[in-house]
Amino acid sequence: MAGEIVKTSVPITFMYKNRVGRSLETYINGLKGKKIVGAKCPRCKKVYVPPRTVCGKCHKLLDNIIELDQQGVLKSFTVAYVNIINGEIKDTQEPYVIGLIKLKGASSLLSAVIKASSPGAVKTGMKVRAVWKDTTRGDYNDLAYFEPV
Ligand SMILES: [Zn+2]
Repeated sequence: MAGEIVKTSVPITFMYKNRVGRSLETYINGLKGKKIVGAKCPRCKKVYVPPRTVCGKCHKLLDNIIELDQQGVLKSFTVAYVNIINGEIKDTQEPYVIGLIKLKGASSLLSAVIKASSPGAVKTGMKVRAVWKDTTRGDYNDLAYFEPV
């Protein structure tokens, strides 16, 4: 019939396994051992966390991996009310905080969940420390969150 549009839905799930690369493998292997590692530039001494392959400032190869302190300062944060679960955006039961942390000795910022008594208790400039899962598996979630010191 002219003018009639037929619609249908076809749910499709894609599963990917891809290599994260040498630098992120080093980072994730560090997390498995409850360590936070970065790469230090031999020329300008910048420390990248997570490690990078090449310095963004002077383009030197970064093969000097160092372990960083697990405490830092919260430089910025946002309160999230949604989460992405299996590719779908869902409202969360409780809001949570995602922060940018400058670890002691690092030049770059690390993004992580911040857990405090409430999102309102989180303040820029507060000192935070890493909290690990009891059992690590070698993935990003091994570093469970950061909490106020
Ligand atoms: Zn450099």
